[in-house]
Amino acid sequence: MEQSALIKENLSFVHNEIKEACQKAGRESSAVRLLLATKTVEPERIIQAIEAGETLIGENKVQEYHDKAEALSDIHCERHFIGHLQSNKIKEILQYVSCIQSVDSISLAEKLSAQLLKANRTLDIYLQINTSGEASKFGADPGEAFQLMEKVKTLGGLQVKGLMTIGLFSDQEVPVRKSYALLRTLKEKGQREGLLPEGHLELSMGMSGDIEWAVLEGSTMVRVGSAVFGKRNYA
Ligand SMILES: *Cc1c(COP(=O)(O)O)cnc(C)c1O
Repeated sequence: MEQSALIKENLSFVHNEIKEACQKAGRESSAVRLLLATKTVEPERIIQAIEAGETLIGENKVQEYHDKAEALSDIHCERHFIGHLQSNKIKEILQYVSCIQSVDSISLAEKLSAQLLKANRTLDIYLQINTSGEASKFGADPGEAFQLMEKVKTLGGLQVKGLMTIGLFSDQEVPVRKSYALLRTLKEKGQREGLLPEGHLELSMGMSGDIEWAVLEGSTMVRVGSAVFGKRNYA
């Protein structure tokens, strides 16, 4: 099959999965947005996905936004950052994205805020929480989530629009859903305590292998790579 036809077919498969999960959860399918996780994906295939109707991409390395910037310069889509952000890359990433989903520490939030104030601008952010308990994953510890929320509230330039998590990597439904339920609970409690903005906040959770479970736990944004673009080639 031609590359662009394959991407289209995969996209319709993923959208259908989202729709069915929403039906099962009793939610509108418009309640869950698809973010394309485009790490290692060449600009040509990203463009094919955008031309197929997608509107949102996310990279997890600043370098990849840099390398693909020229090839994607004419493409209209929303760009988020979803990877671990080193503070020496803050200035550069701000050129590329409208949202950083991976704010996971007070020190990163402070540095980001300082840079934004200097540039006299604001930025949408999500707070990334490590809900899986796995030491290797980035994200603030759930026990520190409220301190992070409280601090971020006081910092200029940052507009909290949601929470993000990578979740537990497992094929077991119960523990995976438990990690996603934890993110939802933190959001609800944060809003109740006045630490997060009122109104709609995104829950960015769910990837290729666990879209349904994430949607059943309230995800409003799934980040999908391999189910659309196939296995990643890191070579
Ligand atoms: C790669 C990546 C994804 C998507 O992973 P797939 O399993 O390929 O869907 C989602 N979130 C983050 C933060 C990623 O780095």
